[in-house]
Amino acid sequence: MGRAFVYVILGGGVAAGYAALEFTKRGVSHGELCIISEEPVAPYERPALSKGFLLPESPARLPSFHTCVGANEERLTPKWYKEHGIELVLGTRVKSADVRRKTLLTATGETISYKILIIATGARALKLEEFGVSGSEAENVCYLRDLADANSLVNVMQSCAGGNAVVIGGGYIGMECAASLVINKINVTMVFPEAHCMARLFTPKIASYYEDYYQSKGVKFIKGTVLSSFEFDSSGKVTAVNLRDGSQLPADMVVVGIGIRPNTSLFEGQLTLEKGGIKVNGKLQTSNNSVYAVGDVATFPVKLFGETRRLEHVDSVRKSAKHAVAAILEPEKAGEFDYLPFFYSRVFALSWQFFGDNAGEVVHFGDYSGSTFGAYWISKGHLVGSFLEGGTKEEYEAIANATRLQAAVEDLAEVGRQGLKFALTVSKTPLPTPPIEVSSSSLVLERPVYAWHATAGVVLAASVAGFAYWYGRRRRRW
Ligand SMILES: Cc1cc2nc3c(=O)[nH]c(=O)nc-3n(C[C@H](O)[C@H](O)[C@H](O)COP(=O)(O)OP(=O)(O)OC[C@H]3O[C@@H](n4cnc5c(N)ncnc54)[C@H](O)[C@@H]3O)c2cc1C
Repeated sequence: MGRAFVYVILGGGVAAGYAALEFTKRGVSHGELCIISEEPVAPYERPALSKGFLLPESPARLPSFHTCVGANEERLTPKWYKEHGIELVLGTRVKSADVRRKTLLTATGETISYKILIIATGARALKLEEFGVSGSEAENVCYLRDLADANSLVNVMQSCAGGNAVVIGGGYIGMECAASLVINKINVTMVFPEAHCMARLFTPKIASYYEDYYQSKGVKFIKGTVLSSFEFDSSGKVTAVNLRDGSQLPADMVVVGIGIRPNTSLFEGQLTLEKGGIKVNGKLQTSNNSVYAVGDVATFPVKLFGETRRLEHVDSVRKSAKHAVAAILEPEKAGEFDYLPFFYSRVFALSWQFFGDNAGEVVHFGDYSGSTFGAYWISKGHLVGSFLEGGTKEEYEAIANATRLQAAVEDLAEVGRQGLKFALTVSKTPLPTPPIEVSSSSLVLERPVYAWHATAGVVLAASVAGFAYWYGRRRRRW
């Protein structure tokens, strides 16, 4: 038993939705494209699961957050896929892949063959068991990666209003879930091994602002230790968590956000892997010509940094998916993927955006006792990263532009004093270079590497930041 398609997208998450839309924009015939997904629903905006989905009132529910609403584009419902002749093979896990034969074998025993494969398998949540702690299958221990997880988190949350939650992990998932739990009137204690929250991105000074804010909402922090075991009642529910520092916390529920692992296993030994992901070139093409990889699972060259990275953020997922489709359908026109890393989060009434890389020396600016502040990261005399909380559209655009331009910085203290004025001035300074061609994909930029020559970079970054602003302000639910 088998079916054959020209294009197959393996994985039905964010990347799959954005790739499908791009296929239809660029022209794909009915019956040519198939999406295979383990999940039982059409692609949706995953970030909604830790935000609008967890609200106690009028929570976001499908079909409202199918891709591609997060980028203010069409909402692709199952009907849309049908109308566009795109085969959605849902609730179906692919259990093996043969890139030499160009086939995928599903758990239902079907062989699906392709001419071109896009791997968009994303990542899975790391389990406590992988760190030697057992018991995380208990019904009141929650992870959050997919819709099924989000549904059970909502059920558990509803069953323990007024109770105690322990959140394990101080990264994105931990921080966003902790805020949602508080909004649902649950007492929250966060436990993580690092010295401060969001340790991979935040400086201690930035982190302390958010921790203070969370504490003002009643959240308690226990840092520098990890979970060592659970206590259970006779029905198998967790009643308390034991920490390695010897303390015990009562728990009506536990949320675990300890990181993710890219879903590469089907391709290990068949494709080149790097930095935990499937290695791709600037066209998102893997070590096999007929196979592309996009989203969380792909390790791609970040031109701006001159090295490969694997990112776990929705903006790069959307853009890498679109770029891969451009490269597949118009290989001559599509240039190299040229991406300015962009991360954001929204918790309570707070909202921040980050562009670039948090490498080198850091300069903080703004009012850390107020509502607008930020930081610049400077490496080898150039701005490489910018963070801003509580900015306006113009300000977010400015930090994105200045970062994309890798503005020269001679005096760190002066840049700190100028704060946002530095980025606003840099991004308004006309550059003395001829216009540089921007390819039809609108994401592709052909430019010399040296950033001050990147006239078109301003256009690109402005559009990135424009979207960032829109996403931050208007789509508060996902
Ligand atoms: C709760 C939550 C909140 C988030 N919030 C933010 C945020 O605020 N900002 C931000 O920038 N990013 C956020 N992210 C990250 C963002 O959602 C991810 O970067 C994005 O979803 C990755 O897209 P993807 O398509 O690569 O993978 P995914 O969206 O994970 O999709 C992968 C799909 O592939 C399927 N799959 C995997 N293996 C197989 C197989 N063998 N057979 C069939 N199907 C398979 C999976 O079931 C899944 O449907 C959040 C993530 C989560 C989980």
